[in-house]
Amino acid sequence: MSELSRKEHVFRDLIGGTILLVVAGVAGHFTIGWKWVTDLWNWITHPIETSRWWYAFLVGFFVVNVLVWLIRSVRQEQSPDFHQYTEDTFFGITWRWTWGKNNAIENLSPFCLRCDRSMRYGTNPDDFTNCSILIGCNECRVPHIRGGTYHDTLVDVRNEIWLKVRKNIWPRPTP
Ligand SMILES: [Zn+2]
Repeated sequence: MSELSRKEHVFRDLIGGTILLVVAGVAGHFTIGWKWVTDLWNWITHPIETSRWWYAFLVGFFVVNVLVWLIRSVRQEQSPDFHQYTEDTFFGITWRWTWGKNNAIENLSPFCLRCDRSMRYGTNPDDFTNCSILIGCNECRVPHIRGGTYHDTLVDVRNEIWLKVRKNIWPRPTP
């Protein structure tokens, strides 16, 4: 055996040993790494004893929570009666809207009382103080002059809607 081949042998043995150590290390790491999963599973599934009152309390707690959840989901599906109220006439204009979350009046828009066209609003050209607006229909050209801004008019209409809802005198839609 030459000097070179002996060195080679030593080198090979070293490499082989290192690979073996690494493989064993990785394998060992994995068995240790996954052991906690089985340990946890065994711990979770291990039967325990408990008193009847504690068992009854836990079952009761579960049943009550499921019932509360059921009642809440049924109640949420039933919207209030006044959600059918989505159209009315205020200040000589037809107003239509939708009901949003928490009874919010949304998409409040004016429509012409004569031809039912959607109405536009803008500044009142005859008012140089800019303290009023003009709501009008392009076709009928009947101007509705309102004091304040368009937002003020929307607030007024919302107040009128809520007044009728509170008094329960809103017009029921004809079936
Ligand atoms: Zn019109």
